Amino acid sequence: MRDLQQFTSEFILKNLSKVYSKTNYKLSELPPKTLCLTYDDGPGQYTHDIAKFLNEHHVRATFFVVGKYAYHHQDTLAKVKELGHIIGNHTYDHPDLPYYQSVDGELHYQVIRTDLLIRKFINGNKVFFRAPYGKWSAEVADELNANILSAINHIGPIHWDIDGIDCYYWKNDWALDDAVAKYLEDIHKKDHGIIVMHDEIADMDVVKPKNRTLELTKKLIPILLEQGYKFIGLDEIESLKQESAEVEKFRLRASNGKYIRLASADVTGLEVNGVKNDVLAEISLTDIGSGKVALKAANGMYFNSVNGESAGVLANSNEIGPFESFDLVQLRESQVIFRTATGNFLNIDKKNGNRLMCTVQFMRQAEIFSFAGTEMQVKPVSLKRRLFLLKKALLFIKSKLIPN
Ligand SMILES: [Zn+2]
Repeated sequence: MRDLQQFTSEFILKNLSKVYSKTNYKLSELPPKTLCLTYDDGPGQYTHDIAKFLNEHHVRATFFVVGKYAYHHQDTLAKVKELGHIIGNHTYDHPDLPYYQSVDGELHYQVIRTDLLIRKFINGNKVFFRAPYGKWSAEVADELNANILSAINHIGPIHWDIDGIDCYYWKNDWALDDAVAKYLEDIHKKDHGIIVMHDEIADMDVVKPKNRTLELTKKLIPILLEQGYKFIGLDEIESLKQESAEVEKFRLRASNGKYIRLASADVTGLEVNGVKNDVLAEISLTDIGSGKVALKAANGMYFNSVNGESAGVLANSNEIGPFESFDLVQLRESQVIFRTATGNFLNIDKKNGNRLMCTVQFMRQAEIFSFAGTEMQVKPVSLKRRLFLLKKALLFIKSKLIPN
């Protein structure tokens, strides 16, 4: 294992996590004559045929899908994945997110509901996200970053360089060849970048039957290949690869205001004494399905609960097994409780240097952790909210004291 000093300095040098960037990702740094194909608003009736055609030409694309359609097209998504393409998240209802936020829409549901429908069709741990219409704001990023389930492992918003004008051609009954010519003109002018097209149309039902993006693809792609353009997948873009290695990282703050960190004396021991910006408090999370996650400490080792009832939870495992799997129970937004394989919950041994343990059997004894991305602040709870929570806590106690 690498020594403490070494990985400490490595972690300081790295850029800290963004998860959702405050601005749309700009990727104009793609090499000359290199294009990245993306399709939005599906899945729909043409999605599979587009995916198949591209695969026959050895082109990988990303399909940013809308949750409400993904629900009815699970088979299509399985086939698209099998053909080597990437599935991304394009929200559940396709709203204009800054507006949706301004009218108190539940932003994280747009991401989480879609995530539940597409996660099994995603290779690896990272989910690319694209905002509907490319509409985005720093406030939308902040709100999505504050919720553990909408934040962790998502990267975006991914923008485009070559516009998705295809829908306007279909809407206005303009000629297919004119759409091909328009894309070619734009690509020749810009030379490289991300292209967006629409395998389905999310907002205008009357345009859906007029969608000719399959034909557009069949005409456009062979021309571009013949002209020497190269296509790469979104997951092959260098800057995004670096960003996505960072998006898993976050910190867990306990009720004592301190963060879970590697203990300084013993690099595999975990204690809840970390302060803000403590590099030893960085944790990365892997979603392993069925509501379970694995937690990796700053030493690159997984949290292991096998001796957590006596010696504490240690960061000393290379592999994810039952004792490296934790049920993540989300309370609200950034608050979470973790349950181990024995059914016990993570807690803190306050008499023993705030060591991270798993000695408690009941959820009410579990430590409640607040999640914070490496750049994020944990929002303070307002007095009004605290009184409301106190009232709920009293009702819980009452329910225990007075049987029905
Ligand atoms: Zn869209």
